Amino acid sequence: MFRKILIANRGEIACRIIKTARKLGVSTVAVYSDADRHALHVTLADQAVAIGGAAPKDSYLKGDAIIAAALETGAEAIHPGYGFLSENPDFVDAVESAGLAFIGPSAKAIRAMGLKDAAKALMEKAGVPVVPGYHGDNQDGAFLAEQAQVIGYPVLIKAVAGGGGKGMRRVESAAEFGDALRSAKAEAANAFGNDAVLIEKYVAAPRHIEVQVFGDGRDAVHLFERDCSLQRRHQKVIEEAPAPGMTAEMRQAMGEAAVRAARTIGYSGAGTIEFIVDGSDGLKTDRFWFMEMNTRLQVEHPVTEAITGLDLVEWQLRVASGEPLPLRQEEIRLTGHAFEARLYAEDVEAGFLPATGRLAHLAFPDNCRADTGVRSGDEISPWYDPMIAKIITHGPTRRIALSALGRALRETEVAGTVTNLSFLQALTQHPGFVRGDVDTGLIARDIQALTVKVKDEERDQVMAGLAALQVTGLPRDTLSGFALWAPLEQQVCLEKDGDLLTVSLQFSGPERATVRVGQVSFEALRDQSGWFVEGQARMKLVEAEGIHVFAGSATASFKRQDPLDRDGSAGLGSDVTLAPMPGLVRSILVRVGDDVEPGQTLCVLEAMKMEHSLKAMRTGRVASVFVTEGSQIAAGDPLVQLEPEASHHG
Ligand code: ADP
Repeated sequence: MFRKILIANRGEIACRIIKTARKLGVSTVAVYSDADRHALHVTLADQAVAIGGAAPKDSYLKGDAIIAAALETGAEAIHPGYGFLSENPDFVDAVESAGLAFIGPSAKAIRAMGLKDAAKALMEKAGVPVVPGYHGDNQDGAFLAEQAQVIGYPVLIKAVAGGGGKGMRRVESAAEFGDALRSAKAEAANAFGNDAVLIEKYVAAPRHIEVQVFGDGRDAVHLFERDCSLQRRHQKVIEEAPAPGMTAEMRQAMGEAAVRAARTIGYSGAGTIEFIVDGSDGLKTDRFWFMEMNTRLQVEHPVTEAITGLDLVEWQLRVASGEPLPLRQEEIRLTGHAFEARLYAEDVEAGFLPATGRLAHLAFPDNCRADTGVRSGDEISPWYDPMIAKIITHGPTRRIALSALGRALRETEVAGTVTNLSFLQALTQHPGFVRGDVDTGLIARDIQALTVKVKDEERDQVMAGLAALQVTGLPRDTLSGFALWAPLEQQVCLEKDGDLLTVSLQFSGPERATVRVGQVSFEALRDQSGWFVEGQARMKLVEAEGIHVFAGSATASFKRQDPLDRDGSAGLGSDVTLAPMPGLVRSILVRVGDDVEPGQTLCVLEAMKMEHSLKAMRTGRVASVFVTEGSQIAAGDPLVQLEPEASHHG
């Protein structure tokens, strides 16, 4: 075994590799870019070396700087993780010429599988079924159109150098072929500097089922399959193992084909053979075809670890240091079922736009495995993949593992950036997915239902109310006894997503309060673990750069705006809306005598370069407007007053 290895990667996979290295008594060297100076992988490693600027091309893709760092720190081997340099054969050559070991396959094996057309030709020769289609050299448009006709529509145009779904077009009919070919080629040229394409039959009801293989250069075994059919735009979202509906016969056929593929190229290390499967009529041994081989550890390897009880990174280190495969095929066992969900910082409503931001708070429940490269306080920077974590669950059956995944997602707490958490939660409840009825089109077909934002005003108001109680603590004079609690009404002004809302709290003891938010009012109780509403699921409150309330599927963050504490104008009571901060009155939307509804905007303030809408807290009639549009105001200045409510303060 190696004494010391360098990890040429960042984020969760760098942390994941460090964990196994530690377990095996192997020292680790991290490399990092300027943007990652304080990153988790840097903290976890025994040593860390700065290799350049934030952009990947200035750091994580700089093979020479990485090799220099390995030599300088006395590392014997380099683990590339996934992405970056992991499938770059020139890097492998450079690592080996520097006298270091590459923890992965040979440059030759990577080259053999690097281009989809050459890989398909090689696999066809080895007797591995490949998707019917054309993968030859002739790139003439008319010729390719003819081939598409022979294959039969629908067809798929794929960039031979493709990855990440780029340069790929599904074509329904001959009339669309010309345009699709042109745009696929343009995209491929742009992304890979290679515009060659191949044409494939578009498989009906396609399922993506891949087989994990492992080789030591002499022999190869497989570690069963993973189903990665839950995809959005050809990107995996939730993966599982084993594949739903898998039969012993199909598993054997796919496993054998995958091992044959690995043996053909004398494969060494962890690899994945991706198959496309026609799932329109169950899983049939003559309906799966080789798509491509990934010559590295996959993002979704933890589901395989969960069902086999094996550590794939440990296997990688053993094989790369010259040991034979740790187990024979018949010694590898499959137990239960596992899922992995990819938690991303992304704005689902804005079309899954990657998001950035500082993670004010990040916590995972105990009932899952969470592989992450970030912690509370860390930045999701625009430079790298915005994946926050992978959440993995395992259970004796698919149903139990899936319900554990749903629970783990509900109990995951992220504040400071938008995430795809509720989208993932919705997926865990999708009836087709729950049944195991998966195909790569599932998400696209039901995207509307999966991304609809459940509006639950009452829940939102309870969240605000609990947040207000949390920031307020208790009225100061707790010694004066119970009798004095009743008249003590407090107003707490909170900001949520740029909107201001006022919550009134009426304490009737240190452990009980009546909370009023808008037209809703409810009783809150307090015990050792905080404020809650009887009969409702407990919400969790966390203070970290504001108050964050986690309520299963919903998250809300609040900031306190409290002018009342500062200027002592508390005597005005809840009829008056006060300026929560100094600013400019941008517009006034009500006049004296107007009847207003709770939540209706009274006026808009411009402060701290943002517009804030000040809203009515209750139903009422406007008694006075104290300011005019364009006036500059101080924090605590009265803005609008409502006529007193008969029952109020009663
Ligand atoms: P990339 O390397 O760009 O990720 P792949 O060849 O791995 O491209 O294909 C990505 C995804 O596209 C697959 O997981 C599958 O969902 C879909 N796909 C690929 N080939 C076919 C095909 N012949 N028929 C139907 N769907 C396909």
